[in-house]
Amino acid sequence: MTTVAAYAAPSAKAPLERTTIQRREVREFDVLIDIKFAGICHSDIHQAREGWGEAIFPMVPGHEIAGVVSEVGPGVTRFAVGDRVGVGCLVDSCRECDNCKAGLEQYCTGGSVGTYNAVGKDGEPTYGGYAEKIVVDENFVVRIPDGLALDVAAPLLCAGITTYSPLKHWNAGPGKKVAVLGMGGLGHMGVKIAHALGAEVTVLSQSLRKKDDGLRLGADHYYATSDPETFKELAGTFDLILSTVSAPLDLDAYLALLRTDGAFVNVGAPEEPVALNLFSVIGGRKTLAGSGIGGIQETQEMLDFCAEHGFGAEIELISASEINEAYERVLASDVRYRFVIDTATI
Ligand SMILES: [Zn+2]
Ligand SMILES: [Zn+2]
Repeated sequence: MTTVAAYAAPSAKAPLERTTIQRREVREFDVLIDIKFAGICHSDIHQAREGWGEAIFPMVPGHEIAGVVSEVGPGVTRFAVGDRVGVGCLVDSCRECDNCKAGLEQYCTGGSVGTYNAVGKDGEPTYGGYAEKIVVDENFVVRIPDGLALDVAAPLLCAGITTYSPLKHWNAGPGKKVAVLGMGGLGHMGVKIAHALGAEVTVLSQSLRKKDDGLRLGADHYYATSDPETFKELAGTFDLILSTVSAPLDLDAYLALLRTDGAFVNVGAPEEPVALNLFSVIGGRKTLAGSGIGGIQETQEMLDFCAEHGFGAEIELISASEINEAYERVLASDVRYRFVIDTATI
């Protein structure tokens, strides 16, 4: 075991504080990564505060990890010391179910292992990226292309793949009208990726406060959802609405913005169940769907896509001592657009 410095929540109600954790010794197929940067995802806060149910403490959050390989196990074939790599939301899966075989490890039915707040196959709790180092099986490590700086690449490991996967699956591209609902950490990546895929992109945000940013990042149109006129003007418009918000929504109102055969896809989720009138999907043969992160191979594809198009996330780099303040600012939607921890400050 190796002792490494980390930031952890000791319990659900407590602020995160500096501590030390044990990382396992490097096994045959393991990669030891010196973490350079870790993004702060809204789901880190949900989990650290038990908003999504009972959690494991102490908790070291962080599933947007970018770093450099510093050691490899004897069986490792895909990575070498010095490689620039990333780790996202998963560090293991059953590797045998239909979904795993199809590269959909995120929907593993045999038991996938989250990067933190989970228990590994060895029975030990997993600890995430707010730490100096992490040990991960090479099959759950991806390569960060040279053209991408590690700090702006880190948020791609969750925010990037969470938006890329549904945009690809629902065929966002030339001739398609795509709306991105919410202009936060996920939403701003949705805008960049949908634009790079060639779609006509509209941002639907609570206010017009971030309009300049939205247009700069690739949106063609920008509307405020607080304005009732928006729903009249855009009725029947979109092929795809990607909802990145985790606040409760009037789903019927949003489904009315889809054209026939359009899809409303959720990648954010409120903590409480939602209600809707099913006639909202019956008329127009509409789809209400969800999507969760993406598989490992697709995550690599997304990183290569972003590097090819020359963009990472828009970030605010912070030191580890600012994590608790950053959490409050994320909850207040006061971040443009992802906090990234410089892990050298832990
Ligand atoms: Zn996340
Ligand atoms: Zn599986």
